[in-house]
Amino acid sequence: MGLNLFAKRKTAAFGLVGAIMASGLSSPTTTAAQTWEENLAAGAATTKQNHLNVPFNKFTNMKTVFSSPGNWPIFENRGPIDRSPKDKPSKVLVMGSGDPNPNPYRHGPALVVIVNGYPYFIDAGEGWWRAVGYSVQAQPALDLASIMSLQNLKYMFLTHLHEDHTVGLPSFISNPFKFGQNLGGVDKKVYGPEGVDEMMANINAAWRIDRNEMAQGSSVQKFDGATAVGIPVWPHVDVNGRKIYEDDNVLVEAFPTKHGFLEHSYAYRFTTKPDNRVLVFGGDGHYSEGLANAAKDADILFIEGITRKNIMSAPWGGQTLEEKLRIIGAYHMFPSDMKKLQKKSGVKNIVMVHVQNYNTPEKFDRLSVLQEMIDEGVTNILQAADGDLY
Ligand SMILES: [Zn+2]
Ligand SMILES: [Zn+2]
Repeated sequence: MGLNLFAKRKTAAFGLVGAIMASGLSSPTTTAAQTWEENLAAGAATTKQNHLNVPFNKFTNMKTVFSSPGNWPIFENRGPIDRSPKDKPSKVLVMGSGDPNPNPYRHGPALVVIVNGYPYFIDAGEGWWRAVGYSVQAQPALDLASIMSLQNLKYMFLTHLHEDHTVGLPSFISNPFKFGQNLGGVDKKVYGPEGVDEMMANINAAWRIDRNEMAQGSSVQKFDGATAVGIPVWPHVDVNGRKIYEDDNVLVEAFPTKHGFLEHSYAYRFTTKPDNRVLVFGGDGHYSEGLANAAKDADILFIEGITRKNIMSAPWGGQTLEEKLRIIGAYHMFPSDMKKLQKKSGVKNIVMVHVQNYNTPEKFDRLSVLQEMIDEGVTNILQAADGDLY
């Protein structure tokens, strides 16, 4: 299908030393005489390799979740790329490629399929509203400012109800009303596993004071009948999948996945009508028959990935290797699972998001999980960054 840049990784490892050397470690000197354009150019030069233009304590340990090397800005060495096929008007925008780790340079899980200028969102991770703002400003290949008009923020598909994939929902529901007008008809629809209806009702209730103030207070907005409802996909989905939504732009099917001890989690298979792309969003989880069926002969599967090599450095999942493999393997996608998934499904391309590398400070490689996948025999696989287009 002609995705760009699917060539195998040429060079390894944008390692710690390389990262620091390439960074230049200097900040741009700005003077009052500089124009806005000059300031912008100076900022871009600084951020070409990484984000060292922000204050940064260079930790010498990884004692806490907040200082862990995976969250260090020096390891985020690139901005957004347009990797989408030029002859296909439908696109997937990666708004958030992060995981539960508090990485300030990756938003929580959030993706969006864009068809005929209309967005269909998948998962609402931490910082969802800011992730929209980041993508609009950082990805120039589409008119995202128009596509993300407040009237268009309507359809959300949740792969599962873990906090890191849903904590952005209050922003999705309420924040547009702080800025937009005539949003009364935007009756947001949030599809997801059993419990999504309850979650949505509780979010509406939890922000009742804000909602009432917007309706009655100083705001000019009419927070009128606009509803935000959760629509459970459960229980009519078996491993062969089921159509859950269709309009002139997309057909969406849901398939069950296996993720930890959740009773219900789903992959969503989008077929885009204008250009017939099959784009699959697997959420979190390990290999399963439902996931393989969802990704059957698809153009792209967007899916998580986790290290097997560095698994002993994972700060969870027990103490011994045996424990960690069993417990973490119940939740996430090891390279061997990814290989099996690609083989069984025949999916053409894989884009990894929610990558969990558990590198140590001494041996850090931003793309080490990607390398593990390639070493396992997985082909046509890429690792995403926020703002990427596919
Ligand atoms: Zn997750
Ligand atoms: Zn999860």
